[in-house]
Amino acid sequence: MKVVRSKYLPPLRRHVAINLFGVFFVHPGVNVNERLINHERIHTAQMRELLYLPFYIIYLVEWGIRLMMRGNAYLSIGFEREAYLHECDLDYLDHRKPYAWVKYLRKNKKQRRRKRKKTLRYRKLKNSHNNEQARD
Ligand SMILES: [Zn+2]
Repeated sequence: MKVVRSKYLPPLRRHVAINLFGVFFVHPGVNVNERLINHERIHTAQMRELLYLPFYIIYLVEWGIRLMMRGNAYLSIGFEREAYLHECDLDYLDHRKPYAWVKYLRKNKKQRRRKRKKTLRYRKLKNSHNNEQARD
């Protein structure tokens, strides 16, 4: 993986690195360790299987959608969830299934549990309302 140190990329200071079409840009002074390289390699694998450009389109669309949802939009993006979850597994790319990121598009367990609770509460309310109407 080609690593380029740049003052200008990534454009925001709070971001450590950015992977553009498989080239890895980091701010000067950032400690480029194996974990960070592995994280970016996972992104490169995601990009390759989507032929690069669609990766960025999907990434931005998902980020835009997740901004309107609960939680950290960036950390909820499917591509990021896969990369963060497996960045410490340095052999991950050797056994990774193609399009593995797709399963990370789903809400996480905590979000699904919250939604289920909300639905159950709604059904309970609706049932009690219907029962009250039936009595009247
Ligand atoms: Zn990432």
